[in-house]
Amino acid sequence: MTTRRTTRKIQVGTAFIGGDAPILIQTMAATKTRDVEATVLTVNHLAQSGAGLVRIAVDTRNDAKALAEIRKRTTANLSVDLQENFRLAELVAPNVDKIRYNPGHLHHLEPNLSWQKKVEYLVDVAKEFDVALRVGVNCGSLDPAKLEKYHAQLEQNDDTASPPGDAAAIFDPSLESALEHVDFLDSIGFTRYCVSIKDSDPETVVIVNRRFAALRPQVPLHLGVTEAGTPLRGILKSRLALEMLLAEGIGETLRVSLTVEADQKAQEIEAGRLILANVAAGTVVDPATPLPKLNIVSCPSCARVQNDRFVELARTLEKAAEFAQDYPFKIATMGCRVNGPGETDDADVGLWCGADRVNLKSGSTLIGSYGYDEIIEKALELLREKIREYDEQNK
Ligand code: SF4
Repeated sequence: MTTRRTTRKIQVGTAFIGGDAPILIQTMAATKTRDVEATVLTVNHLAQSGAGLVRIAVDTRNDAKALAEIRKRTTANLSVDLQENFRLAELVAPNVDKIRYNPGHLHHLEPNLSWQKKVEYLVDVAKEFDVALRVGVNCGSLDPAKLEKYHAQLEQNDDTASPPGDAAAIFDPSLESALEHVDFLDSIGFTRYCVSIKDSDPETVVIVNRRFAALRPQVPLHLGVTEAGTPLRGILKSRLALEMLLAEGIGETLRVSLTVEADQKAQEIEAGRLILANVAAGTVVDPATPLPKLNIVSCPSCARVQNDRFVELARTLEKAAEFAQDYPFKIATMGCRVNGPGETDDADVGLWCGADRVNLKSGSTLIGSYGYDEIIEKALELLREKIREYDEQNK
């Protein structure tokens, strides 16, 4: 039997996270938020399928208006994640139970206002409208100052350089960002929050969350592997990280992110249930289970996807790239311009999807922009080129 740690308990609508509350499974609607009818149907279906909290994407004032309509037509617990436009908080707060903000996104809008002032504003909104917060740190959109410090550390001490999430890393940018925000929230007397520190690498998720849990044991943790990919790989990646942490008693809520169509999001809840059942039964996946050398990641898609062909594209590319299984490359397929450009920067073959074109990148270099009918062949060409270079270097 796993002994769960005792964290603070926070209320999120009719649900609770942490303390003696059961582990809450979350998911996210991927319908267009402005399509109120479809989003209400989806949210209700997901809640009936066992989601304790359903997230909705809101990027504009029109989305916020649609959210108000959605709120009237569902009793599900709702959350919203803010991107750069943190000022939308006051528009969404009356209609949700939790707001997620990303510390890495607080540096773009109103750059002359300190992040502390922005967080104070979010806390004021949260208090006024009785909502909880999530500090959601994500490997693909880290605080630029933390990244700079991290890279300076690597340059100074190249021999002992370690990637983010390394157990031996002195300074981990995602962990530091989470700690900084937790300490600030506590210092201003706001404790109705949880924290997530997500990465696309399961091992990094385990190491960073374990370190955070040891340092701030009172703070409820939302667990997840970001950009885990299609169910084929995404469930295994999520199991590798989440089952290990939960078996150690770490984690109060979770989301399994899967690249599936908007009407298939209940698969995320089923995968979450599977993970909880495995932990309860003591049948957690062997942490030494190898993942293929070829790392294929893709975002779970959400309302921000501009072309519905995204999920099919990610699936087709995954199958078409099977021939490269034994090469240590990363292929990243992202659904939109909000997170796509940043979260493909470290991929050997990166794709981020626009309305009619897909941008193909090699690392941070843009190779070109192609139609949906030609992008797979262009991406495979780039992959073959990477293989030729690799074979040449490793002869
Ligand atoms: S990359 Fe874009 S479409 Fe994909 S989950 Fe993130 S915000 Fe949504």
